[in-house]
Amino acid sequence: MTMTMTPALLVALAASTAAPDAEIKAAAERMAPALVEIRRDIHKHPELGNREVRTGKLVADRLRALGLEVRYPVARTGVLGVLRGAKPGRVVAVRADLDALPIQEVNDVPYKSEVPGVKHACGHDAHTAIVLGTAEVLSKMKDRLPGTVVFLFQPAEEGPPEGEEGGALLMIKEGALDDPKVQAIFGLHTDPFLNVGQVGWAVGPIFASSDTFTIEVQGKTTHGAYPDTGLDPIPVASEMVEALQLVVSRQTNAQNPKVLTIGQIHGGNRFNIIADKVVMQGTVRTLDEAVRKDIKERMARTVKGVAEAHGTTATLRYEDDGNPATMNDEALTRASVPSLERVCGKANVLEVKPQMGAEDFALFAERVPGLYVKMGIRNEARGIVAKMHTPDWDIDESVLPLGVRTLSTLVWDSLAPPPRARR
Ligand SMILES: [Zn+2]
Ligand SMILES: [Zn+2]
Repeated sequence: MTMTMTPALLVALAASTAAPDAEIKAAAERMAPALVEIRRDIHKHPELGNREVRTGKLVADRLRALGLEVRYPVARTGVLGVLRGAKPGRVVAVRADLDALPIQEVNDVPYKSEVPGVKHACGHDAHTAIVLGTAEVLSKMKDRLPGTVVFLFQPAEEGPPEGEEGGALLMIKEGALDDPKVQAIFGLHTDPFLNVGQVGWAVGPIFASSDTFTIEVQGKTTHGAYPDTGLDPIPVASEMVEALQLVVSRQTNAQNPKVLTIGQIHGGNRFNIIADKVVMQGTVRTLDEAVRKDIKERMARTVKGVAEAHGTTATLRYEDDGNPATMNDEALTRASVPSLERVCGKANVLEVKPQMGAEDFALFAERVPGLYVKMGIRNEARGIVAKMHTPDWDIDESVLPLGVRTLSTLVWDSLAPPPRARR
């Protein structure tokens, strides 16, 4: 075919493959009450990581009712649904997370958590409702859908219980990206720093890497009045805490964000006994893989050096379930911003700075081009201002239909990207 691509023809071609905006909008708005109902049902029945039995079943049942091919369970309690469109196109995945947190709900709302000490305080109930809604909207248009959509409902985003595998890594190990082979992945997180209606994006890092470490300083116990007859690990540990902060503030480039937090320190059992050892636990956050690796090496040197200076020994152990920074693929992100603007309006689509919180979506985005966006849920007039992981967290539920429109549009547009001009 030797047709010249005129601008008018390009527009027509783009229009034929871009998402049917008005239809998606109408469908999402029609399902708003149902989305609220699903979100509240999940909110009332929160389940911790790797224990999302009820939530996983609810999702699997709904996907089956929509006619999707369903794999369940995946990664213990997770669900994978495949929607094959009638038209040829790419394979694109959408991911939601299922788990709640060990936090007592304090909000007096009709959908208050019915499980003592457990609450959806990170918006995963909303993410699940939004991705279920997206599956519904797209499944009703599958006669025109250009490609295949894989819906991933992942357990244990907040981390599996100690000693268990789980989360994004286990989904990947169990083939979540393999059959059909996923070419791009989208996800969203509710965000209390943005007003409802707004959506945030970034190229490159949007969430930080997260690693957990344990330091053990070995001493030798003795009477508290005669420290010279033993080896006191407490002042050595104190010096280590300070030396580790110097790694962050003095040894690494200030223009690369990073956090090193020691959140726990345990040692000793009586005021007049020298402790036999001190155990410290903490976390390191970075936005860059090289910085992440560099800090790890400097920490090892610091821990060893400080211990040796005082004639003690110490070990630094990094847990192996850390995850890299969540990196948004540049080409996918830039191609998707116009889709976001069509849904949310140009003024509501904001380029945001990355946060030092972490997300295991990073592990998917490490393997296939990914875009993770932040959906505003803040509504000051209604008192919805709480931060994630707090007992009074809530969302403005009008984010639910907007989230469905956002994901449906992002997915559709990336299944069949508009053709590029030929020269
Ligand atoms: Zn969280
Ligand atoms: Zn979360």
